[in-house]
Amino acid sequence: MKKHRLVIGTTNAAKGRELAELLAPYDYDVLTLTQVAHPIDVVEDGETFAANARKKAIEQARHLDEWVLADDSGLEVEALGGRPGVYSARYAGEAASDEDNNRKLLQELRDVPPERRAARYVCHVAVADPGGVIRAESHDECRGRIAFQAAGANGFGYDPLFEVVEYHQTFGELGPRVKAALSHRARAMRAIVPKLLRLSQGGAWTVQ
Ligand code: IMP
Repeated sequence: MKKHRLVIGTTNAAKGRELAELLAPYDYDVLTLTQVAHPIDVVEDGETFAANARKKAIEQARHLDEWVLADDSGLEVEALGGRPGVYSARYAGEAASDEDNNRKLLQELRDVPPERRAARYVCHVAVADPGGVIRAESHDECRGRIAFQAAGANGFGYDPLFEVVEYHQTFGELGPRVKAALSHRARAMRAIVPKLLRLSQGGAWTVQ
């Protein structure tokens, strides 16, 4: 039997892998942008996670004529007034690597004591149909604290610095199983899956 196709609209390979794994238990034919012909590069110029996620889903869906799921996510640090927020990927500059961003974060927080290092990861997920109409959305977060030094090599982005409240360890140390249970992305995906299932089981989403 043919499955419903769902394209993950992200160029971030690590994020794409996490999203694909979170969708693995369900019966979708999940494709990343590396598996479809000529995806577009959507400009992320929204001022909120929601605006960027919607834009990535809508523009890619229309262009590819496919159902597209996109996430926009980032880190909000209390002592920095919520920065880097939607600029998390380019916190240390347009071509910044994860290491550059982490170095800048540690530098900015160098004089901030443990009790003021609270942070949260935020994730907005949006699904657009091939006509570019948003059909499902969800939003969630994961609370933590910024460590004083990097620990662990799992995950991506700020994971070696992001200490999960429940564990007092970073996502870099905790690894993919814990991240798949507790992360902002995991929580937002758990909230959107029932909506996706309703769409695919309700006939709104046809299989070619
Ligand atoms: P986006 O691709 O515009 O949504 O950028 C997301 C950026 O936020 C990433 O490049 C990371 O810097 C950060 N980020 C989002 N989610 C995570 C995560 O799960 N772990 C670590 N960093 C993350």
